[in-house]
Amino acid sequence: MLSVDEFISWMREFARSIAAEKDHLTELDSPIGDADHGSNMHRGMSAVVAALDPPPNTVAEAAKLAGMKLVSTVGGASGPLYGTFFLRFAAGATFAQAFRAGVDGVAARGKSALGDKTMLDALIPAAVALEAGKTAAEAAQAANDGRDATIPLIARKGRASYLGERSAGHQDPGATSAALLVEAAAKVLA
Ligand code: ADP
Ligand code: MG
Repeated sequence: MLSVDEFISWMREFARSIAAEKDHLTELDSPIGDADHGSNMHRGMSAVVAALDPPPNTVAEAAKLAGMKLVSTVGGASGPLYGTFFLRFAAGATFAQAFRAGVDGVAARGKSALGDKTMLDALIPAAVALEAGKTAAEAAQAANDGRDATIPLIARKGRASYLGERSAGHQDPGATSAALLVEAAAKVLA
């Protein structure tokens, strides 16, 4: 499992890349959503970073805090879903197990699956890679491929699903931020 310091570094790195990609995430959420994914995630991850200072004693405590902050500060679908990811992550014994528990939590809460054109299209391939013993960098590559694969899909969940066939041809914003989450882990664990 990660050390608490590694977990906090992961959250800081994710917050940094969300801040850098905020406008891009919001642009992606504009044709197939309501143009708030960048600001939602930026608000949430700023609150997470602030909540982790002073640092908790264990990864489980830190992940619970992160999950609760995301649920309470992010309006919109992504807050409860990312929040659930970290609340479930907290119960894992290894990084791969914790990541899988988080992903299964998102799927249960979102009633969503691979191919629905959501954050799961990046998260599930990353979970599969980690469970197969691949490195975080390989998991990040799998997440990036999953993110790119959302472009032709017709959304079956979330706001984008209201557009039906018109949602095809656009990259999913949540899959894009989820790929950043895995990239951030790869950087910290490298
Ligand atoms: P909202 O859609 O409420 O404005 P955001 O814009 O912050 O929230 O987040 C949108 C993202 O949330 C989508 O791009 C998608 O990846 C993800 N999402 C939405 N609904 C679901 C769901 N049921 N399961 C998994 N992910 C979802
Ligand atoms: Mg939105």
